[in-house]
Amino acid sequence: MNTAAASKIYVSRRENTRPAAPLLSVIVPVFNEEDVIVHFLEATRPVLDETGLKYEYVFIDDGSRDKTADILSDELKAGLPGRLLGLSRNFGKEAALSAGLEAAKGDIAVIIDADLQDPPELILQMLDGWRAGYDVVYGLRVDRSSDTLVKRSTANLFYRLFNSLANIDMPANAGDYRLIDRAVVDALLKLPERNRFMKGLFAWVGFPAMALPYERPPRKAGTGKFNYWKLWNFALDGLTAFTTLPLRVWFYGGALVSLAAFAYAIYLTLRVLVAGIDVPGYASLMVALLFFSGVQLLSIGMIGEYIARLFNEAKQRPVYILQDVIEGEAADKASRADKASDGK
Ligand code: UDP
Ligand code: MG
Repeated sequence: MNTAAASKIYVSRRENTRPAAPLLSVIVPVFNEEDVIVHFLEATRPVLDETGLKYEYVFIDDGSRDKTADILSDELKAGLPGRLLGLSRNFGKEAALSAGLEAAKGDIAVIIDADLQDPPELILQMLDGWRAGYDVVYGLRVDRSSDTLVKRSTANLFYRLFNSLANIDMPANAGDYRLIDRAVVDALLKLPERNRFMKGLFAWVGFPAMALPYERPPRKAGTGKFNYWKLWNFALDGLTAFTTLPLRVWFYGGALVSLAAFAYAIYLTLRVLVAGIDVPGYASLMVALLFFSGVQLLSIGMIGEYIARLFNEAKQRPVYILQDVIEGEAADKASRADKASDGK
């Protein structure tokens, strides 16, 4: 499965249109990451300096209740290039990413988790891919042994289901860790929906894409933010946003059942005509009743999932609320300052 996704590489026609001195935006959603955020900065800054590009961090504080925002704002005031967007509460990673994409000024954006599960060194290879003409270079998790068996198998099941139901091809085991060109950022910002299932949206907008396989290490520090209930709802968000098959399948189910019921009615009529009145049948009635009540509730529930999402879209509430923005050093000034202080 991985190799199939990895080999899905397009030929690009845009190789020669890259800006010579692009600005790189590094988008980092953070939610209660005080234990790891300093490690994150220590690990990413050398890599970003090595790129030789101007860069800016775009942190999105997704309603952290710990010292994450304080640590970051201190760093920004001390000369870290970029900004920190403070959301008014926890809106979830997908909303945080949308906020980050909107605030990024770069010609290139890299989306990366704060917990160092996305190895920063890969950014260098991603840039090579971008220079070679790929507008999207996404990390492909070839070894997910840091995830539990249950998480891996449910994730697999989800990708299979998604790709067989939805009309777009979403590479299995690709996370959010990726580099995207400005053209892709702009395309994503044009999508009006409020349900931001980013992995699906990334696939939906298209563009020449290249896979970069990597082994996903465990979290450096802190704890994961997703439990199974959240993941289940996340999966439902993804599926309902990209396929309407769960809504439509009941038509065919209903048609089949009606046909079967019709045939059975004919059979019963004939049997009564041939063999006379026959009363027993409580068990079969009960079974049929329970089975079809179940099917009906399930299908109504499925409709409910879509209606709830329609309702959410119809309300037109913003995806997130920005509470404050803390600006750090401007990207070009900061990279010069870095060069000067390199020797210390
Ligand atoms: N995150 C966020 N808002 C949330 C949950 C997570 O901004 O509501 C951030 C989190 O701080 C981290 C990234 O999203 O930088 C990935 O989170 P986590 O490591 O918990 O997810 P996993 O690695 O299990 O996919
Ligand atoms: Mg993680």
